[in-house]
Amino acid sequence: MALADFSAALPRASRRICTGMNVSFEFFPPQTEEMERTLWTSIERLAPLAPEFVSVTYGAGGSTRERTHATVARIVRETTIKPAAHLTCVGATCAEVDEIARSYWEIGVRHIVALRGDPPGGVAGRFHPHPEGYASSTALVAGLRRLADFEISVSTYPEGHPESASIDQDIDALKAKIDAGATRAITQFFFENEVYFRFLDKARASGINIPIIPGIVPVQNFRQTARFAERAGASVPAWLAERFEGLDDDPTTRRLIAATIAAEQVFDLVDAGIEHFHFYTMNRADLVYAICHLIGLRPKAETKDL
Ligand code: FAD
Repeated sequence: MALADFSAALPRASRRICTGMNVSFEFFPPQTEEMERTLWTSIERLAPLAPEFVSVTYGAGGSTRERTHATVARIVRETTIKPAAHLTCVGATCAEVDEIARSYWEIGVRHIVALRGDPPGGVAGRFHPHPEGYASSTALVAGLRRLADFEISVSTYPEGHPESASIDQDIDALKAKIDAGATRAITQFFFENEVYFRFLDKARASGINIPIIPGIVPVQNFRQTARFAERAGASVPAWLAERFEGLDDDPTTRRLIAATIAAEQVFDLVDAGIEHFHFYTMNRADLVYAICHLIGLRPKAETKDL
């Protein structure tokens, strides 16, 4: 059957281009053997899409130091994808944080996502630097930069960090991190693309030129995402809540809705020229895989020993 080619008539970039897309995936270190199996099934599924990197989070208060390291080390050993290890300033001296970073360097990890972090218990608690620790994400970036030639990514908050007085303060914070050596920013997730575009415009107008990668969260579980968003300073629009209304006992439809919403968001970003997406996977592959497929990614390479 001949496929009609309407591409010239279609204004949407997401229908025409969809090549050269770049993705990265974020995972969290598993707590149980079952979660470990889920994570590795997800990595196995997503790795052939050849992400630019996959990152592994560092639990609040540094609570997952060993598990983050073990997960990153296994990615190095068993796959060909490049891992990025999240690292925070919380509850450790500079020497201890440096030691962790050095141990990453020794096993071949070249990319750190450098964060201030939150105290145990999450953002509700106030961050107090360790007396001999890095006092801020900016200080951590500078410390890592002195230590080794790491690629350093940092966070940024298009709707403002919950502790931030204004978006300008977030822009200033990002600038400080770039001056200290950060080369990529990954955003907190958001649901209204306009929020991201406004932030991007403001950042570019302030002379920030590094990539600011949109963080995309496919809504695997609406209630959980809404709770997380409240703590993280991301707003949940009424339309999003409405789309999940009445579906508490209908996981199949919820998943279809989640895929549709994420696809709509990503297509709008593609239409605006965005080509790199960072997916908060929640250690689940299927929604993210489907969205990646929609934006033109296809399995490329086999991974080592999976
Ligand atoms: P910071 O760089 O500390 O900035 C937060 C706010 O502080 C800024 O918006 C600004 O208002 C203010 N600020 C900081 N520096 C300056 C400055 N120089 N001048 C003016 N104002 C300043 N948490 C974890 O515990 N583990 C993780 O693995 C983790 N991964 C994350 C990944 C991403 C992509 C994101 C977006 C967040 C992540 N977090 C993680 C959450 C993060 O640790 C918390 O949001 C924390 O409260 C802030 O740390 P930060 O490094 O993100 O932000």
